[in-house]
Amino acid sequence: MSSPYMHATEMKPKDYKSDVSVVWCPGCGHHGILNGVYRALAEAGVDPTGLICVSGIGCSSRLPYFLQSYKMHTLHGRAAPVATGAAVVRPDLVNMISGGDGDGFAIGGGHMPHVARKNVNLTYVLMDNGIYGLTKGQYSPTSRPELKAYTTPYGGPEEPMNPMLYMLTYGATYVAQAFAGKPGLCADLIKGALEHKGFSYVHIFTQCPSYNKIDTIEFYRDLVTEIPEGHDTSDLGAAMELARRPGGKAPIGLFYKVDRPTLNDHLDEIVTKVGGHKDYDIQKVINLSRP
Ligand code: SF4
Ligand code: MG
Repeated sequence: MSSPYMHATEMKPKDYKSDVSVVWCPGCGHHGILNGVYRALAEAGVDPTGLICVSGIGCSSRLPYFLQSYKMHTLHGRAAPVATGAAVVRPDLVNMISGGDGDGFAIGGGHMPHVARKNVNLTYVLMDNGIYGLTKGQYSPTSRPELKAYTTPYGGPEEPMNPMLYMLTYGATYVAQAFAGKPGLCADLIKGALEHKGFSYVHIFTQCPSYNKIDTIEFYRDLVTEIPEGHDTSDLGAAMELARRPGGKAPIGLFYKVDRPTLNDHLDEIVTKVGGHKDYDIQKVINLSRP
């Protein structure tokens, strides 16, 4: 993300803390991710006056409250289109979404392919705990069938989706996976995502000790594994193979990173065609798109 609000020097993680108390439960994995976000913003030198963080609804969607930034806490599942609008009209801002598995892949699932294929210049930090936490424990699109949740007392009838395979398939240009128990890796991957020009997706496993009693921090520690050395991050097929969790292990690290024109690059081309300046006449753009 090239932004005039990046690469400020001498920023510290504490510079991004708002004065709102963090209200997540003790032991929630989101605390580690928030620390990773603070560190990533400091290391990327993001000026808080040029940062916008958009969220939907859910425990993870509360993250913007704890950030020193502009923020929009929108409707359930609607962070992606709102952040897309912000990216189009204010391409100078550093644009980030925080959200969860239910918000992103159930209620907001219809938006995910489009924010990826359009290569909108923003970073999506998705905190996956395999449950709806805020609404007290319902089965989500990433829940394992073994999970006996409030809505599935006998276990789940569905196979979980594979968000990594999904985002790679739909054209995200930066795709990474992390684990809340490794905030340093979260910070490194989120920093890389913030610096990437295009749609960057960081999927983070995180435990919800209050409502998901099987996806514990110990479960995730056993599940994750480092990406093998020599992985080519420009190879989509190799990234998809990692996403399939070879040997039953979920790799963590950078899966995929390529450059291709963003939505704004394409819009700028149209602006050039209709007059070459940004204060363009929307009617001219509409006319141009007619056969
Ligand atoms: Fe975290 Fe779960 Fe508590 Fe929500 S309900 S704050 S996800 S532990
Ligand atoms: Mg969740």
